[in-house]
Amino acid sequence: MMAQRYEEGMTVGSSPLHMRFICSYAMMQSFVMESIDKVGFMDKPLPKPGPNDAIVKTTHALICTSDTHTVHGALGERHGLVLGHEAVGIVSEVGSEVKFFHPGDRIVGAGMLANVKDGVLAEYFHVNDADANMALIPLNVPSEKAVYCADMLSTGLAAAENADIPMGGIVAVFSEGVVGLMAIAGARLCGAGSIICVDSTTQRLALARHYGADVIVDLMKEDPVKRVLEITEGVGVDSAIETVGSDIILSNTATVTRHGGTISRVGHHAHTDHMHDLRLTCGVGIAEKTIKTAFCSNGKLRMERMLRLIENGRIDPAPMTTHIFSFDRIDTAFKMMDDKSDHILKPLIVFA
Ligand code: ZN
Repeated sequence: MMAQRYEEGMTVGSSPLHMRFICSYAMMQSFVMESIDKVGFMDKPLPKPGPNDAIVKTTHALICTSDTHTVHGALGERHGLVLGHEAVGIVSEVGSEVKFFHPGDRIVGAGMLANVKDGVLAEYFHVNDADANMALIPLNVPSEKAVYCADMLSTGLAAAENADIPMGGIVAVFSEGVVGLMAIAGARLCGAGSIICVDSTTQRLALARHYGADVIVDLMKEDPVKRVLEITEGVGVDSAIETVGSDIILSNTATVTRHGGTISRVGHHAHTDHMHDLRLTCGVGIAEKTIKTAFCSNGKLRMERMLRLIENGRIDPAPMTTHIFSFDRIDTAFKMMDDKSDHILKPLIVFA
C-alpha cells in the first residue's frame, strides 16, 4: 500500500507553497498494542531490511495467548508495537548478505518473541538474520499448517524433548491449550508408552485423545495429583510436562514425578520463587528430579525438522485451528482469544 506524506519537518498546516510531497513512501496496515489493555489498527512505514535481514509479505498468522498477555502489560507499557510472532509469508526483499532466501520464497519465520521490535500482525514483517531465522516451506505443506512451526510446534515439541521420556515410559502432561496438545503429540513421537493428559476443557480433552493421550484426568472432576499417583500405583510418572504457567501446577508436576524423573516446563512463571515451593513439595534436593525449561526454541534448522514432521504426516496441526478471520477482522479474533470465548483454541488470520 503506497501513501503520500509530507517531508520530514513540515507540518500539515504549513503554507501550500512550502509543501513538498514525497510520493513513494510505503505504508502498511498493522495491528498494534496502543497502550496497556488497548489494541487497534495503525498505518506504519514498511520495514526495511539490514544486510542480513528479510522483509516478508504476510499471508497467514496465528494469535498467541502470549500476545494477549503482552497487551495486559506482561512486558510493560508499549505504544504502537505491532503484535504477533507466529506467521508465514512470501519474501519480498532481502538484504545484500542473505544467502539462502530470495524474493518469492514461501517461508515460516521463527517466533519473534522479543516484543521489543514490531511483530508479524501486519501486511509485512521484518526478520533479523534471515538465513538463521526463516525456513523454506516444502511445496506440499500448506501455509495454514506451516504457521504452527513458528511457536506452537517448536514450544510443544521442546516440552516433550526436554522431558527425557524413556522408550515406553509414562508421561503426565499438564495441559492448557495448544502447546499442551503439541506436547502430547511430541511425547508420542518420543516413544512414550502411556500418556496421561490433565486438562479441564471438554473440547481440548477430545483433541488430547486425538493427539495421543491414553488417559484423561479432568481436573474439574478429580484431584489430578491423587489420580496420577493412583494410576502409577504410587510410584509417579517418569516424566511430567507443565505447559500452563501456574505455580500450583508446577508443584503438582513435581509431586507426580517419580524420584529421579524429569519435569519439563514451558509455562511462563514470572511471579514467584517456585524453587522454594518445589523444595517444600519434594524435600531438599528435590528428590533428584531434573527440571528442564524451554521457551519457543526454534531457528531455521529446527523449523525445517518441524516442517518435515508435517510433510510426512507425523503431526497435523490443522485440527487446532478453531476459527478463521481475515486480517481486517483481527480485532474480533484478538478479543475472542483474550476472553477464550466460543471455545477458541487458535484463530488463523488470513491476509489479502
Ligand atoms: Zn506464540
